[in-house]
Amino acid sequence: MSALDPQLEKLLVLQEREQRKMRCDRELAAWPREMKSLESKKAEIRAGAERKKQEAQQTEVERKKLELEAESHRSKVARYKIQQFETRKNEEFQALGTEIQREEKEIQEIEDKELELMDAGEKAKKAAAAEAEAAKSQEAEVAAKESDLTKKKGELEGRLAELVKEIETLAAGVEEGLLAKYRRIFTNKKDAAIVPVVHGTNCGGCHMKLTQASVLAAKGGKAGVTCENCGRLLFWPSA
Ligand SMILES: [Zn+2]
Repeated sequence: MSALDPQLEKLLVLQEREQRKMRCDRELAAWPREMKSLESKKAEIRAGAERKKQEAQQTEVERKKLELEAESHRSKVARYKIQQFETRKNEEFQALGTEIQREEKEIQEIEDKELELMDAGEKAKKAAAAEAEAAKSQEAEVAAKESDLTKKKGELEGRLAELVKEIETLAAGVEEGLLAKYRRIFTNKKDAAIVPVVHGTNCGGCHMKLTQASVLAAKGGKAGVTCENCGRLLFWPSA
């Protein structure tokens, strides 16, 4: 059993709905930011996979370059061998032999590097494949979050529309002067316009001690009693 003024009771219900509406508004306001952060998360995942793929391709490009280089040295050796075969001069034959040795040494070095790159290329390819696989499941996770978020937006909008209607109906049941006062305080305080007397002595909004007159008026169930400190409407909570 509550000795509360019916007007105050209506205000309390109205306030509860308006507080809910505020939470809805806040969540809806945060929605685009949340969605955007998921978008950039997806872009990040894709960029990571792309980077690994590029690394693997780059290694392959370098290996092919070495292959061409080795090939050009090999054709030089072939040319020198023909020149050796054709020359009659011993000195020239010797000089060509030295050149051939130098070229062959270089070919060996290039082939060693090629082997290293082949090894690195294999590893890079495997890493890229693993990254692509991981990216796929990470993207699916983000996509699921996006769809949850989209669903949540629809729910919030539905709830908001209901609350707006409910608030309208509730407000229509409150006496005009009291409603105007309530609205003024709510707009100003942004959290609550009507608060309980706590511990039988203090304002439930600003927590300051109330005057005895205010406490008594609130206890008597009078509508329109306010805290002298913060100006919020007061009500005496039922046991
Ligand atoms: Zn107060």
